[in-house]
Amino acid sequence: MSSLIELLSDETINQIAAGEVVEGPASVVKELVENALDAEATSIRVQIIGGGLQTIVVADDGQGMAKEDATRCILRHATSKIRKAQDLFHISSMGFRGEALASIASISKMTIETSQGGSGVRLEIERGEILSTHACARTKGTTITIRQLFYNVPARKKFQKSPPALSAEVLRTMTTLALGNPSVDLELVSNGRKAIQSRKGETIEERVVSVLGANFSEGALPLSYDKESLHFRGLIGSPTMSRPNRMAQYLFLNGRAVSCDAIADAVRKGFGTRLDERRHPLFLLHLDVPAELIDVNVHPQKLHVRLRKEELFRETICEAVEQALGTPISTAAPPTTPSFEPTSIRFDEVPILLREDPVEEERTLAIEPDPVTVLGIHDRYILFRDNDALSVVDAQAASFRILFEEIAQSVDHKVAGQGLLVPLTIDLTSVESAMVLTHQAAIEELGFSLKPIGKDVVMVEALPPFIDEADVESILVEIAAAMQQLIGKVDYEKERKEALCLILATKGKSKKVRSVEEGVRLLERLSNCDNPAHCPKGENVRIPLDVETLERLFRAHHTSSRSAN
Ligand code: ADP
Ligand code: MG
Repeated sequence: MSSLIELLSDETINQIAAGEVVEGPASVVKELVENALDAEATSIRVQIIGGGLQTIVVADDGQGMAKEDATRCILRHATSKIRKAQDLFHISSMGFRGEALASIASISKMTIETSQGGSGVRLEIERGEILSTHACARTKGTTITIRQLFYNVPARKKFQKSPPALSAEVLRTMTTLALGNPSVDLELVSNGRKAIQSRKGETIEERVVSVLGANFSEGALPLSYDKESLHFRGLIGSPTMSRPNRMAQYLFLNGRAVSCDAIADAVRKGFGTRLDERRHPLFLLHLDVPAELIDVNVHPQKLHVRLRKEELFRETICEAVEQALGTPISTAAPPTTPSFEPTSIRFDEVPILLREDPVEEERTLAIEPDPVTVLGIHDRYILFRDNDALSVVDAQAASFRILFEEIAQSVDHKVAGQGLLVPLTIDLTSVESAMVLTHQAAIEELGFSLKPIGKDVVMVEALPPFIDEADVESILVEIAAAMQQLIGKVDYEKERKEALCLILATKGKSKKVRSVEEGVRLLERLSNCDNPAHCPKGENVRIPLDVETLERLFRAHHTSSRSAN
């Protein structure tokens, strides 16, 4: 009887490991660049073609490898970086599992050219096997070329994202690496176009400008804080530059990019009430701390850390952020939040009050067939009588709903934008501009007219008519963030349209109702909506002031005051 158990071949083992190490081109780039950093390179050039699926080249000026090491480096568990098992608990060196090159070599066609200064060697590798070894001329350093990634694992290749989405991921990876290593010159060229260009020996601030654009650092505040053995350095974005998600947060722990919710939360806390609850601060933080204070969960892709003395970290970060922001936490709301407080509604302060005799108004404001009478307006609320029922409409929610539906309808016949006499020049980060340009056609359908000029700078020549010029920058940033959420999705057109309409409607919605006429027009347009009851985020647009509601309101007050006793 033949044996049922077979040993897996080395090739299969490496391919399985590759599933873990190599999610896609971005993770190949990360592994290769980290190796170059470990080899003490001061200059690292990365080129990708076709999002990296076609070609990835990483060239460094590091130590290089001797011929023997070059032939061994693609073996599984080949590493020059661990001498003692104890090293595993420290994360001073970038990678230390000795399987990145073996894994990548097993699923691609790889060429290694390397030299320690003397004559160099060139290896051709396929399916993890060395096909040829030749002497070659090369200055000190290493160039690793990966062609046809996943060529022999079609199932993996099939599930890769589109080349533009993959390029954006590589860009994000390189951005993080460049921010984490300001002293090293890192360059990324994608399909011949320079995407990142930095210089050697930059300070953190200079690196932020060269990688993320002047936009990020403008108004950002330097942070520098030491407490016991904790050393924190970096930049904190001003509260007005906050973002709708955490994409603009870069955290490095002892030189490695990590994610750590406790730290992100603590930074947020340091902002106190300066920041709207739904917004996230921008930051770039380098934390330099004793290795024994952190637990690293070494998943090759995402490095999650846990902190041994979490409270100390939280407290110190919070203090550091408060110090960077300058003044002690104020209770003043940030400028982006409406200053309106629901508990302070006072209809008697608005020019038009509940009328005894609404006849005059009724004539001008009647909407057939249901006569609607606006009885009072407040900045945000409209009290009206509709037949015999009283209702209150939240004008912000109503105009949000109206605009959302109107934009969604008009996208189909391409909104006519309003040309600007003086075009706006908007500075974006590399990742943002990549996302905006990838989805340029869809964005232009909303009425924008965009033209890329220079690196990560977009010129806006036309706008949708209801959008304020002052909002254009934040709109493009929000669009870029929303488009990043689509990466990897297949049928994203519908989701994209919804996301774009939502962003524009949020920005375009009217903030105040200034006259009864405006209130009436709003109610009229609302009645034409498919879904007039709720705003696009699900909040109520209209509340009937019927007996039932009034009783509930009064009873709610009664119950809460009783439970307070
Ligand atoms: P690890 O980085 O965990 O050691 P890798 O598979 O990434 O494992 O690399 C294997 C070995 O190959 C490294 O330990 C290093 O000795 C050598 N190596 C890889 N890339 C370079 C490079 N760019 N320059 C010099 N040596 C390199
Ligand atoms: Mg490595």
